[in-house]
Amino acid sequence: MEIAQIHALFLACKSVSTDTRKITHNSMFFALKGDNFNGNTYAKQALESGASYAIVDEAEFNISDKTILVADVLETLQTLASFHRSYLKLPIIALTGSNGKTTTKELINAVLRQKYNTSATIGNLNNHIGVPLTLLSMNEATEIGIVEMGANHKKEIEFLCHIAKPDFGYITNFGKAHLEGFGSIEGVIEAKSEMYNFLIAHDNTIFVNANDSIQTEKTKDAKRFTFGNSKSKSDVGIDFLNAQPFVSCKIETIEVTSQLIGDYNFNNIAAAIAIGNYFKVENTAIKTAIEQYTPTNNRSQIIKKGSNNIILDAYNANPTSMRAALLNFEKQIGQKTAILGDMFELGTSAKAEHQNIADLALNSKIDRVILVGENFYNVEINAEHITKYKTYSDLEKSFDISEIENQTLLIKGSRGMALERILN
Ligand code: ATP
Ligand code: MG
Repeated sequence: MEIAQIHALFLACKSVSTDTRKITHNSMFFALKGDNFNGNTYAKQALESGASYAIVDEAEFNISDKTILVADVLETLQTLASFHRSYLKLPIIALTGSNGKTTTKELINAVLRQKYNTSATIGNLNNHIGVPLTLLSMNEATEIGIVEMGANHKKEIEFLCHIAKPDFGYITNFGKAHLEGFGSIEGVIEAKSEMYNFLIAHDNTIFVNANDSIQTEKTKDAKRFTFGNSKSKSDVGIDFLNAQPFVSCKIETIEVTSQLIGDYNFNNIAAAIAIGNYFKVENTAIKTAIEQYTPTNNRSQIIKKGSNNIILDAYNANPTSMRAALLNFEKQIGQKTAILGDMFELGTSAKAEHQNIADLALNSKIDRVILVGENFYNVEINAEHITKYKTYSDLEKSFDISEIENQTLLIKGSRGMALERILN
């Protein structure tokens, strides 16, 4: 069946589904394959549960006039998403970067929603399946689409741009994340820049943080819209006020106090303000949107537990975000304990990067450092710091948090460490 025909059927459906446990009535089911499952085997069940059509790629599961046999279900999903995106003709803003994509995406969405009917990536659905699903969730009523794109290998962003065809793009930053797949920071820059290459090739607009030298340099000949402080020659001037503990900033005469901690979040907020400004959202509406936004999913949340104030940032970690979190944390008041978990996916850099972070934490104004995980367990600690730290090879062998009292705590580690378990 031609993609245009599949698209016509898709338009008659209400949504797309890929999981028979979450079938919505009148949806189009895509029988995707994973390492441990074959969606084709669920096609019949999907139809029985209310799906209108099931896209399959194995002939034996092409069982009725409601099943559509294609060469490859995943490719069909991607091609359909791309077709749908062109059909809708709406402006799409794409986001990538090493850290802060989801936070920035949520902030941009909050700001643009003040004036437009937007549709954005749900949660963290930012890969070769998530991006198509995001595009297919948009419809004729959508005025602006916001698409998060993640990658841990070269050519992924290029591929995702090819599907989503963004009109606008923003790269949050170039940091040390997924070094295993990218090889080095140069590899990260090259891979993330695939978005710039796409936007430049189509003469589309790039949003640029003028304080970021890599962004500035890479886009110097591109069509761009810049933001920096009010004294810079940027298109929008946004001044950082403080992060004690919540990030606040100023646009013209308007002060904005967010519910986000960590001065690194200033860049995320500034990007959302700038993009709001570009799309002509009033400053007062921008202020409302940013002030109301609260983070979820263990991303920089502040929790009060017993006598402790906890900065729970257990959603994820890599050397760049760990560094940003520690530099922010040491500025907090009171007795400070950092509980840090291993950073994953660092390949051959793992040993050196864990050592760097341990050294940074131990040489900072943080009073106590608790290191958890195989990598942190093996770092070398100078004798002078011996009373300041503890290390555990895994969380099960670690301590009881109820023994820690009257502290400000930072809890941060890779997703796989699930450090939020400490709180239970
Ligand atoms: P993922 O790769 O999992 O999709 P992401 O890029 O979407 O991550 P977020 O989920 O927004 O990032 O934030 C994850 C964590 O990254 C935050 O909890 C915070 O510790 C850190 N972080 C957020 N923004 C920045 C930034 N601009 N610079 C450095 N670290 C940041
Ligand atoms: Mg994300």
